[in-house]
Amino acid sequence: MIPRMEKSRHTPAWQTELMQAVGSVDELLRLLRIDAGKSAVRRFSHNFPLRVPRGFVARMEPGNIHDPLLRQVLPLPEENRQHSDFLPDPLREADAMPVPGLLHKYPGRALLTLTGACAIHCRYCFRRHFPYAAANPLTGNHARALGYLAAHTGIRELILSGGDPLALPDTRLEALAQELAEIPHLQTLRLHTRLPIVLPERIDNRLLAWLGEQPQRVVVVIHCNHPNEIDASVVAALHKLAQAGALLLNQSVLLKGVNDEADTLVSLSEALLAAGVLPYYLHQLDRVQGAAHFEVSDRAAHALMDSLHSALPGYLVPRLVREVPDFPGKYPLWP
Ligand SMILES: *Cc1c(COP(=O)(O)O)cnc(C)c1O
Ligand code: SF4
Repeated sequence: MIPRMEKSRHTPAWQTELMQAVGSVDELLRLLRIDAGKSAVRRFSHNFPLRVPRGFVARMEPGNIHDPLLRQVLPLPEENRQHSDFLPDPLREADAMPVPGLLHKYPGRALLTLTGACAIHCRYCFRRHFPYAAANPLTGNHARALGYLAAHTGIRELILSGGDPLALPDTRLEALAQELAEIPHLQTLRLHTRLPIVLPERIDNRLLAWLGEQPQRVVVVIHCNHPNEIDASVVAALHKLAQAGALLLNQSVLLKGVNDEADTLVSLSEALLAAGVLPYYLHQLDRVQGAAHFEVSDRAAHALMDSLHSALPGYLVPRLVREVPDFPGKYPLWP
């Protein structure tokens, strides 16, 4: 618990940052001094609008329309091309929800989609069509979700996901954690979050105090795809998380034009290590509508893994996996 007097009425700095995120293609291209006339990007409103924190924009290379960080957030006309095997819900997650917002697909662990909000909108995101408003366990289904977790003693680990769970205000996280602490079989609390990368200001003292107080083991799985995403502010935030007692892992998505070269992935693993984070998963893209232009073939992915395996110590080689609807875990694709 945070003592009452420490609670501030002021908006935390990270929320101000978040509110000031870039929300238009025109502004983003202007900041990067890219001639919008020449680039065939979408400028009209979208059901998954552009959103990118300014600190993340600052890590992009001005003038480079092919910048690997820019490519992750910039809407392209390719998104509108129809591909018959790229679907709105490729993982059929709707089938794995005993309570709306609570995914229980794998034995031993369950996942809560706490919010649809994210600090950044990644164009390849497999949850871009997810019905967050209907499937939010913090709204109408809160009691049912907690009841399910309490009743299923085989669930040892709870994953807080989203969207991004750290996009929620501290008060919401604190209230949820108090309820989770009442469930004795939950031994591990895992956060799946991109905030330490895209908005390192989020890792503030209040969040760190909250993390440090959890009775469960805390694992933070960050999401970083390219070494350029890691700057000094990110390293500092990650070090603080480790000091607060969290085990730090990273998952990446293999993305054409972003990180589909061996040198990039080697540098990423090394940059993660320097920040105290071990690579965990390298995901083959989920075939979600609008993301086909990011796909890397399994053959190319295997060749990349062969290179990583020879270039890096084993603990810096992520596991190449794909999510398969009826398989009871991530499906291993390599070796
Ligand atoms: C990815 C995922 C998990 C976690 O899988 P791990 O292999 O333990 O990292 C749990 N539940 C769902 C629904 C998932 O998609
Ligand atoms: S941060 Fe994660 S959940 Fe949010 S848009 Fe990016 S990939 Fe999707």
